[in-house]
Amino acid sequence: MERHGIDYYREAAKQSGLWHQGYLREMKKCRFDTIAVHGIYSMQEALDFNQGSIIEPVYLSTAQAYRDSDEMEAALSYQIPTWCYSRIANPSMYYLEGVLALLESYGADVETTCIATASGMAAIQTAVDPFLLPDPKNRSKPINFVATAQVYGGTFQQFAMRKEKEQNITWRKVVNYNDINEWEKLIDENTRFLYGEMPSNPGQTFFDLKKVIELAHKHGIPMIIDSTVATPALLRPLTLGADIVVQSVSKTLSTSGFGIAGAVISRKDIISTIDNPELKADFAGYAKRFPNRDNGPNISPMNAILALNDIRTLRSRVDMQSRSTLTIARYLAEHKHIEQVDYLGLKSHPLHKLAAKYLWLVDAEYDEQYGNPVNRYGHLMSFRVKGGARAARDVFDRFTRIFRATDLGRIKSVATIPAISTHSQQGEEARELADVPENLIRLCVGAEHPDDIIADLDQALSVLDGKETSINAPAFSAGGASSASLRNRL
Ligand SMILES: *Cc1c(COP(=O)(O)O)cnc(C)c1O
Repeated sequence: MERHGIDYYREAAKQSGLWHQGYLREMKKCRFDTIAVHGIYSMQEALDFNQGSIIEPVYLSTAQAYRDSDEMEAALSYQIPTWCYSRIANPSMYYLEGVLALLESYGADVETTCIATASGMAAIQTAVDPFLLPDPKNRSKPINFVATAQVYGGTFQQFAMRKEKEQNITWRKVVNYNDINEWEKLIDENTRFLYGEMPSNPGQTFFDLKKVIELAHKHGIPMIIDSTVATPALLRPLTLGADIVVQSVSKTLSTSGFGIAGAVISRKDIISTIDNPELKADFAGYAKRFPNRDNGPNISPMNAILALNDIRTLRSRVDMQSRSTLTIARYLAEHKHIEQVDYLGLKSHPLHKLAAKYLWLVDAEYDEQYGNPVNRYGHLMSFRVKGGARAARDVFDRFTRIFRATDLGRIKSVATIPAISTHSQQGEEARELADVPENLIRLCVGAEHPDDIIADLDQALSVLDGKETSINAPAFSAGGASSASLRNRL
């Protein structure tokens, strides 16, 4: 048998890399919807390698076989881009990573890379851990990071328990997130990064991202943004100069609710005080090749393709659901049993003007319906019921269309009471800090017609009138074996 030699494979990889770069440049010229639909899966790839399959195939295989020992050696020493083993990489994962990298950089001339993970929490860990290593010259030197106090409940736990309590890494909390001096006062030479969730879940807090990015870079540290609630359809922090974006892909991106997934998307050549050229040159690629290879938090190929399928319609869904949410927020704002509605899209929201500066429906100017840039504010909102925790629970318990679940981003409307669910672990004081009172219901509006969601809210709120409505609680009236077994379980 004739040996090809490692150089042969390196040259072949170089040629295919050049072709791929050219393809990406072509894709970058397309509109957002086209990128979301096609991503990095080219017609050439479909015809030459995938039986003409028009949809990206699910490669469930654990590993890739090599032609000979030279190709294997080149692959496993990362001299050529192959996928080796599905804990590290896999073609189906790669399709998802490719489309997210393109969407997060849409509209700007920035080069980005992505690593997909098994969950949003794994994405956050992937994004922050490489910056939280001890100082090699003085391992006992204290380490800190500066992050908004209002973050997702799981993030709060990861920061407060896993980092602070277990690893003695201080989380310096920004409470007045729109006071740039407060951010700055918390930074010192041991601060490894700035982190913010914007808009936050569930509080929808919002800060002036450009100013905070500028501050981070002034101190030589990266800005990490959890952009789950906005999605790239409304906000693309990397195009504004942020270094790393985290997505809980489980949420609006994968609206069908078929799987948990996460992603870290980074721009090339990030700013950091960590002395590691590879980490800075291509953070997501570094995470894929090293820490995540060793720790193993990566996504399964099946979940990657399920997420990919939902992402194709992201822009139009976010538009529609944002419009419905505004309609529903306006209805609730007028309701006699409602104390307060928190939705960035309402003019009455204290952060409305700031949010309007940042949250734009991508490509609205090319949409025949609009023809101009339009603001959209997503489908997360919350409202506070008059009468405290009991009243809120009475209303919540009466929903017959809106599902009671700790979920977000679904095609179906879902509500939760954060104080007894997502934010239950962190205690009263932390909930106060996060502005999550007991009478707050978080509602994430689905793609139903808003009139039907308003009807459900209306009948549920009427419980506080003390009078019955015409809608009988239908939960167990479906008949048959399933309702019987449900009754037995209850
Ligand atoms: C849900 C969520 C996460 C965590 O994502 P998982 O996929 O559930 O692990 C992180 N950040 C925000 C804003 C979230 O809503």
